[in-house]
Amino acid sequence: MSLKITEECINCGACEPECPNKAIYEGGEKWSISEGTSIKKKKYIYNGKTIYKNKKYKPISNDIYYIVKEKCTECIGFFKDPQCASVCPIDCCIEDEKNKESTVNLIKKKKKLHNN
Ligand code: SF4
Ligand code: SF4
Repeated sequence: MSLKITEECINCGACEPECPNKAIYEGGEKWSISEGTSIKKKKYIYNGKTIYKNKKYKPISNDIYYIVKEKCTECIGFFKDPQCASVCPIDCCIEDEKNKESTVNLIKKKKKLHNN
């Protein structure tokens, strides 16, 4: 499953540079699927939803850092543990129970995002 950031976030910014998929954005910042990934195809399909490589999407939060579930792989393929959760000083990067994914799917997701 992907991780999410709860409302307790103090906007310290420690998590954002640690994400190997650039799945973490500052509140108010637009996100894109291609930023921090090596997607080559124009379209990326995630859970039946089409995401366009060159499109910038609206922020998921305007107030606190947020995680894009379409990009989060629990750090699989890069690190043993989710890096955002490891560095967050107040433990507000937690598992998103609404976005459960199997390890097999997370590995596929990582391969899609990084084209390998
Ligand atoms: S778990 Fe890893 S991939 Fe997911 S948002 Fe945190 S740092 Fe990024
Ligand atoms: S490390 Fe934690 S408190 Fe800091 S910005 Fe990220 S989620 Fe928020």
